[in-house]
Amino acid sequence: MRRLILFDVDGTLLSTNGQAGRAIGMAIRETFGTAGPIEGYAFAGKTDPQIVFELTALAGLKRSEVEPRLAEVFDRYCSRLSSMLTPVNTRALPGVREILAELGRHADVAVGLLTGNIRPGAEIKLRAAGLGGRFAFGAFGSDHEDRNRLVPVARARAQDLWGADFAGPSTVVIGDAEADIRCARAGGARSVAVASSKTSREQLAALAPDVLLDSLDSPAALEALLGTG
Ligand SMILES: [Mg+2]
Repeated sequence: MRRLILFDVDGTLLSTNGQAGRAIGMAIRETFGTAGPIEGYAFAGKTDPQIVFELTALAGLKRSEVEPRLAEVFDRYCSRLSSMLTPVNTRALPGVREILAELGRHADVAVGLLTGNIRPGAEIKLRAAGLGGRFAFGAFGSDHEDRNRLVPVARARAQDLWGADFAGPSTVVIGDAEADIRCARAGGARSVAVASSKTSREQLAALAPDVLLDSLDSPAALEALLGTG
């Protein structure tokens, strides 16, 4: 194995058209009676635990009140998510199926997830988008609240599966948010940013990712991920 490619989920692989944000808002409100200033809140690149802690802190709740009920919030969130996401509102983004199929033809390339989603949430979203079962492993928001700590988690799991250490830029982190670029850098990985969602090309460019794409539906995308361009 020569390369490890780690995909972000929301805005990179798929879009839920705002349904996931609504679902987590409902779960927080049902648990604490408020979801804080959720209108206008920027979800991009944040982990699910970070979203819950930030919104409840902005609503005036103490972390010590929120932490013991995190599992309760996520149970509610996953049940909402399962009922709200459908193949109509949740779709793989352009080029995603094709690039995953291409990467699958490279025997020396390992593919996984690096996402702020809790693991069951990622699975529900991927299934709704028709991408269920495509990823052998991942690092998730349920592994750590701080996204910047997830590259080592993903590398350790990849090493268990494939026996390679994927040091430095042999790991590639691809995502649509500034937090994905910061996380790649924190983990010493190569950063591929894709301006396929809410964060503009200019905002992403300001953080100087190794490669900046407009979409995965671009001839440059495969080369960017394989590190040959
Ligand atoms: Mg994203």
